[in-house]
Amino acid sequence: MVSSRIEWKHETWNPVTGCSPVSEGCDHCYARGIALKLQAMGVDKYRSGFSVAVHEDALDIPLRWRKPRIVFVTSMGDLMHPDIPDAFVMRVLDVMRRCDRHVFQILSKRPERMAELSGRISWPSNVWAGTTVENRKVYHRLESLRRVDAVVRFISFEPLLSDVSDADLTGIHWAAVGGESGPDARPMKIEWARALRDRCIAEGISFFFKQWGGAHHSSGGRTLDGRIWDEMPDPSGQLSFI
Ligand code: SF4
Repeated sequence: MVSSRIEWKHETWNPVTGCSPVSEGCDHCYARGIALKLQAMGVDKYRSGFSVAVHEDALDIPLRWRKPRIVFVTSMGDLMHPDIPDAFVMRVLDVMRRCDRHVFQILSKRPERMAELSGRISWPSNVWAGTTVENRKVYHRLESLRRVDAVVRFISFEPLLSDVSDADLTGIHWAAVGGESGPDARPMKIEWARALRDRCIAEGISFFFKQWGGAHHSSGGRTLDGRIWDEMPDPSGQLSFI
């Protein structure tokens, strides 16, 4: 898997919003706070606050983006939440399939549903599948993710809450590491980040260091051992044209 430093235009797309906690990584869910603020401001899309909602009127948005983009799907929830009907998830996947000029990234803390869907459909080649691993208690997500027939499978180690250097990275193409943000951020130790970086280098996995997070006072920003790590798989291979 080739890594790329090309600056692609990034987008977020939220055909569903809202969620409910599933593990310790959810304790300080940023999306919940934003959704409640938008609800208080009277934004129609968030009239239900952080309750799970589907948005028919958002379905065709990627079809209107003419130039290729990297699209993060559902930054304000989890597309694989059990309250979202299968039929709607299929419609979202169908839009992605039709928009093969874009690459879509689905990050879910419920990859078992992605795996189940992947067994039933032909997974679109322009849809990357990812899950979050914040500590060892959720290693089972890696097993589910490996069953998703995606060209790129990725892990978000964010918020990284403990040492996960013995995680099985078989079948993983990309890993992003980050500490928690916000006023009550839980700390990420430098050795946890280093261990993952070293595993990725040894195993040929693209490594992206996102941020230290709010609880790390000695080394702000997003450098790790004096450099920025912003590798990612090359999206060009999955696009129909550039
Ligand atoms: S899965 Fe994601 S969106 Fe849902 S509650 Fe947890 S952190 Fe928030």
